[in-house]
Amino acid sequence: MSSSNSLPASGPIPFWRTDLGALDNHRSTEVLPDVSDVVCIGAGYAAAAFVTHLQALSPSEHPSVTVLEARQLCSGATGRNGGHLKPDAYQHIASIAASHGIDAAAELADFEVANVYAVRDFVEREHIDCDFALTRAVDVQLDTGVHNRIKAGYDKLMAAGVHAARNVQYYEGQAAEEISGVKNAISAYSYPAGHVWPYKLVHHMFAKAVANGINLQTNTPVTSISDNQDALGRWTVHTTRGSLKAKKVIVLTNAYTSTILPEYKDKIIPYRAICTRIVSPVKPPKPLLNTYALRFAEWDFDYLIPRADGSIIVGGARRDFYHDIRQWYGRTDDDKVIEPAVRYFDGYMQRHFAGWENTGAYTDKVWTGIMGYSADRRPHVGKVPNKAGVYVMAGFTGHGMPQIFLCGQGLAKIVLDDIPFKDSGVPKIFEETASRLADNRNLVLDTYHNAMNAMNAMNAMKTRAKI
Ligand SMILES: Cc1cc2nc3c(=O)[nH]c(=O)nc-3n(C[C@H](O)[C@H](O)[C@H](O)COP(=O)(O)OP(=O)(O)OC[C@H]3O[C@@H](n4cnc5c(N)ncnc54)[C@H](O)[C@@H]3O)c2cc1C
Repeated sequence: MSSSNSLPASGPIPFWRTDLGALDNHRSTEVLPDVSDVVCIGAGYAAAAFVTHLQALSPSEHPSVTVLEARQLCSGATGRNGGHLKPDAYQHIASIAASHGIDAAAELADFEVANVYAVRDFVEREHIDCDFALTRAVDVQLDTGVHNRIKAGYDKLMAAGVHAARNVQYYEGQAAEEISGVKNAISAYSYPAGHVWPYKLVHHMFAKAVANGINLQTNTPVTSISDNQDALGRWTVHTTRGSLKAKKVIVLTNAYTSTILPEYKDKIIPYRAICTRIVSPVKPPKPLLNTYALRFAEWDFDYLIPRADGSIIVGGARRDFYHDIRQWYGRTDDDKVIEPAVRYFDGYMQRHFAGWENTGAYTDKVWTGIMGYSADRRPHVGKVPNKAGVYVMAGFTGHGMPQIFLCGQGLAKIVLDDIPFKDSGVPKIFEETASRLADNRNLVLDTYHNAMNAMNAMNAMKTRAKI
């Protein structure tokens, strides 16, 4: 199966896009400029982080920047996500330790933690009204196999003295149920994490960037980039509203990257996901203070954040659609919900959280979004091989919120000053390279096939037990 090429369509309204800002359909000029020093494609969190840091790093003389967005500002994954800013310090990090070594794992864990505090500092410094909250994540295992695998990885990180893992508290059995409030919890990990209203954060970043001179052009899909540079070293960026030229083109289109850069076909895979907002008419005896992950199987997990208004944002629901690969793999349409999963969230809080049984909590809103999953499960950041002046920052694999802010800073340094990637502050394993693009492995499909094999084996066992 291969990922399809597509431009974003319009879709059901996510909660985060119910309170829109003045820039949602903004065009700084009526027509596109003919030339810009830098052209950014996409206006989600990655673009917001990049332009924010580009301007901060060149305070006296910004390069001219034009941002081209296919739809409205922040209408892609960032405007449709779970709002969870959760730095991984023991789970995916343990698999990075196994595949890339302990130093790479420690570098990534520290980077994610640093992102959360950098965003907190930025929000405080700029007085951004985006519901940012710093709290703790509580990740709960509800399956013995998942529990055993994660615990073994955590123990290895602890034994190796990985600093970020040492800040993770571990609980087992009754203590896990008590600390999490999740029924039947086998184990739980707790550590600092944040949550945010992503649209409001991104809107603020763009408002500042526009005030400082960037040209923002929403509703302007890019259809292609020229095959070659002109005699002055400029790329031509073609849009549905005309073309413009730039020496530096930054591709910040996440799931849709292969539409513009065909070499990313099957390297960044569109992956459809679902989120909901749950509202409780009755205040539960134990309101949620932490963020959560509930892990039911290697492939089946949910994540949720509490909001100050008492509502809960929950994402996941893979139980109801993951087995049908046509529902998610290569899907670029967020204009429909994932039908088989629409009712998954009904009674969710009552099922899983002690004390919520009589709250009447109900599903208020359901929406979908398109994640950009990298085939090697690592974001692609840096120079696009064999295309001098074209850069990429995409493929955040459903986990961009604790990575993008400082990736934007690192990429801005590379674009402005041509510093080596190793000095950018971005984890080494995110660096774009020709060998990554030549690698034909697809961990997204491998994970799916392993999950299906495990599911079939389990079903066969259940059938045998019944006979
Ligand atoms: C349902 C869901 C839940 C998620 N939950 C979380 C979470 O809780 N925590 C977390 O860390 N991550 C989460 N993620 C992932 C996270 O949202 C992404 O990693 C992050 O938002 C990526 O930001 P981005 O700017 O790279 O991509 P996007 O926000 O998708 O921005 C890319 C932009 O490019 C535009 N674009 C695409 N093609 C073109 C074109 N040809 N021309 C012009 N513009 C174009 C798009 O319209 C879009 O606005 C979730 C994602 C989804 C879908």
